[in-house]
Amino acid sequence: MPIKPSSKEDEYFARMEFERLRKIEEEKQAHMKSTEKQRLKELHHMKCPKCGMQLIEIEYRGLKIDECSECRGVWFDAGELQQISKFEAGALTRMFSIFK
Ligand SMILES: [Zn+2]
Repeated sequence: MPIKPSSKEDEYFARMEFERLRKIEEEKQAHMKSTEKQRLKELHHMKCPKCGMQLIEIEYRGLKIDECSECRGVWFDAGELQQISKFEAGALTRMFSIFK
């Protein structure tokens, strides 16, 4: 059965409408993702990644590290562990020399 030009046109506009709605939906989802990200950030900020209790910022050798008020786990910000291992390099070398 031949397709009438008018129904082809309808299909074209239906497709255009679909694409328009799909774009709106896509933007909504992208916004949802950033809202969800923000919500999670607020929920987890300064909370222990292991037990979920409050982290307390303490100073250790001039660095600010976060220690858990519950399980006493220690959380480093990016780069802090490397800085600490520089301080501790001597002590670590001595420790590992025991196993040689
Ligand atoms: Zn903890």
